[in-house]
Amino acid sequence: MNARKPGTLWVVATPIGNLGDLSPRAQQVLREVELVACEDTRHSRPLLQHFGIATPSTALHEHNEHAAVAALLARLQEGQDVALISDAGTPLISDPGYRLVRAARAAGIPVSPVPGACAAIAALSVAGLPSDRFAFEGFLPAKPAARRTRLRALADETRTLVLYESSHRIMECCADLVVAFGSDREAALLREITKLHETHLGATLGEIAGRVETDPEQRLGEFVLVVAGRGEDADTQLAEGRRVFNLLREELPPAKAAKLAAAISGAPRKELYEH
Ligand code: SAM
Repeated sequence: MNARKPGTLWVVATPIGNLGDLSPRAQQVLREVELVACEDTRHSRPLLQHFGIATPSTALHEHNEHAAVAALLARLQEGQDVALISDAGTPLISDPGYRLVRAARAAGIPVSPVPGACAAIAALSVAGLPSDRFAFEGFLPAKPAARRTRLRALADETRTLVLYESSHRIMECCADLVVAFGSDREAALLREITKLHETHLGATLGEIAGRVETDPEQRLGEFVLVVAGRGEDADTQLAEGRRVFNLLREELPPAKAAKLAAAISGAPRKELYEH
């Protein structure tokens, strides 16, 4: 562990598939803390056993969070170290732990991350869609009417969207995305990341929805959907390009200003230069 104060809450990411993704530092923290708070102790036991970690564990899930948080805070305040893990990936990211972290911080208890796998970030890193700005939406509402309302509200989002989905709803979710965003919207469906049957589908929502509907295998496992944001129309891009060009033109020769303005705005360089 790092130099640290006793009584730290360690928020530890665990693998989303391949056990090799549990870092040596995460292993050490899980081995050295007094207690591991797990979303589901039975689920995490094989992981801990695989690495020969015999640290006692306790459950912290959405149904017992209230009582469990009080008990864990008491242990932390006595100076014991506690690690928080979820079933897979980074705790708090569509997983329990928010109340514990919030309460620990409010009580002045040190909270330290041990970063690692997160399905959303892993998906974004390979989707080939703009990743400079993105919005993590997690799970859409399970009920069709609420899901469609949410998607309509997201249709004008210009940032790349990252969604989680389960095998039960992946087909309906893809169909609703086509209706809300159009079949031509660029997207990628990442399935079973780091596992034996990892597959990547792209490149438009229409193609993805079609494949998921016709190929039952593409409905098995765990999914992250990465959907391109609504493209800015050419006029908006050009207006922004001209604004940036005019600013840069005060300091730079026209060719250089046009090149930079085109790179910043996405507008065609020729149009800016000839303007
Ligand atoms: N906390 C986790 C994280 O950091 O990614 C997410 C937990 S959430 C309850 C589980 C969802 O994450 C799944 O339904 C799926 O959408 C996504 N997910 C988790 N593991 C995945 C994997 N190996 N491949 C694709 N998606 C995955």
